[in-house]
Amino acid sequence: MKGIIRVVRGSEVKLTLPGPSVTIKSDGTIWYQGMPILGITDPVIKAKVSAAIKAKRYGDIPAESWTRLGDNPNGLWAGDEAAWATHPAKLAQDEKNAARREQETKQVTIWLSSRGWGDFIPAKWIGDITRPDAEILAECKEELRSGYDVDEPNQTDDEILSKITAARTKWATPKQPYKEPVHGPGYCYSCKTYCYGDCGDYHPARDNVTVAREISEIAREIS
Ligand SMILES: [Zn+2]
Repeated sequence: MKGIIRVVRGSEVKLTLPGPSVTIKSDGTIWYQGMPILGITDPVIKAKVSAAIKAKRYGDIPAESWTRLGDNPNGLWAGDEAAWATHPAKLAQDEKNAARREQETKQVTIWLSSRGWGDFIPAKWIGDITRPDAEILAECKEELRSGYDVDEPNQTDDEILSKITAARTKWATPKQPYKEPVHGPGYCYSCKTYCYGDCGDYHPARDNVTVAREISEIAREIS
């Protein structure tokens, strides 16, 4: 078989089988690497069946234990990619992921105050910026009050609210893609001024050499 066969119980994917190792016999039963895919929850039956499999007495396996494509009496569902795409468990999973991703886009950091000698991470609030101001304000005040060694713990509500508003405005503003500034004649990408070659390392165009230089500068800044 091509693709992937999933075996699902309830909303949980129990097995993800690579198609090339899966065989579907003429009676519809699914086999993986020469072993039947079975659904047995009763430990007594399980023990009996595993003995039958070891002895290759497949005829002794109860009819209701076998797994075929679709819903099975053993409680398992099995299907290929196309069938899985519309399975309720997959749709529920997609919905959950979409909700999580949407929640993540609302997460904003508000910088509230420096701390101590500046050796510490500044006091900040992180959360869902679409929540009401009053709730965010209360949490910011709590952070300023209880945070360790906060430099400016006594900020007015208006001061904090203006930070919340600024953060929300910035969050709501669509990000402009970075545009390479256009430089006129005489501009040098080596010294980054209009040196007209005075620096001795004149790069009038942003060629591969200047790009490489910029990358190494960024790498230096990071380290
Ligand atoms: Zn120059």
